[in-house]
Amino acid sequence: MAQIIDGKAIAADIRGEVAAEVAALSSAHNVVPGLAVVIVGSRKDSQTYVSMKRKACAEVGIRSVHVDLPEDISELALVAEVHRLNADPAVHGILVQLPLPKHINEEKILSEISIEKDVDGFHPLNIGKLAMKGREPLFVPCTPKGCMELLSRSGVTVKGKRAVVVGRSNIVGLPVSLLLLKADATVSIVHSRTPDPESIVREADIVIAAAGQAMMIKGDWIKPGAAVIDVGTNSVDDPTRKSGYRLVGDVDFAEVSKVAGYLTPVPGGVGPMTVAMLLKNTVDGAKRGIVE
Ligand code: NAP
Repeated sequence: MAQIIDGKAIAADIRGEVAAEVAALSSAHNVVPGLAVVIVGSRKDSQTYVSMKRKACAEVGIRSVHVDLPEDISELALVAEVHRLNADPAVHGILVQLPLPKHINEEKILSEISIEKDVDGFHPLNIGKLAMKGREPLFVPCTPKGCMELLSRSGVTVKGKRAVVVGRSNIVGLPVSLLLLKADATVSIVHSRTPDPESIVREADIVIAAAGQAMMIKGDWIKPGAAVIDVGTNSVDDPTRKSGYRLVGDVDFAEVSKVAGYLTPVPGGVGPMTVAMLLKNTVDGAKRGIVE
């Protein structure tokens, strides 16, 4: 049976470490890390994510700056808002909750965030530096960083291992592939046009599943003993639940847990790490401001 990686417990440890760093920054330098969380419009899911992030900030002593903007805000006005936050010395990180309304170009907005405050790590310059040998991004995207942290804190060696990432999105698949490569794994990326993905996944010592396809990865896709990180978060109908649905990953947990060496559950695996890494990135941003 696989060792189940408890993302909730690891994330709680990280939040504790961040809270200690926040306290030290405040007493030694009189600096309180500040995170601006920008939300445009009133999408329910986005509001839930934003309030979760704001609550997590409060718990570790990070000051969260609330920027709630109307659905019909113009692109120009949103850019001006980002520029205002870029110039605010009390703001060390800026997060623009995605997706943005259709009339706003997300890429344009993300590239207007100062790279020194890009705590989501989505600025093209930060992603570009992540991809280049010998360069270091100022920030690494939170979910991929969380996957790497889960591996290292579980004692899984990455160097020299075969890693297969399922998915190639800008926010998960691509950056986690680049992080694995930087950590000296030999990396393959499987996507929706890859023929026979199971034969490639079967070669992996480390599997990162980020396809958004419920329980796609079966037990016989997995090399015995492999470490499997399940990023997928899919809701499936479940009439036995009051809500009528439940969350499942991209991995068939019941099957894969019998073959893998390590496995993250959904929920309670990668999810809690994403917010913990956001807090960590914000504190790192504040610390960098002091060193410079
Ligand atoms: P996305 O933008 O939809 O990208 C999905 C990727 O998977 C694409 O590259 C796609 O290939 C590939 N793919 C789709 N079906 C496939 C298949 N049958 N076989 C192989 N590859 C396939 O999704 P995302 O934003 O990266 O998110 C992925 C999953 O992670 C989702 O379930 C999302 O909810 C979850 N997620 C969780 C967290 C967290 O904190 N826990 C954070 C972010 C995302 P193409 O490029 O060819 O289309």
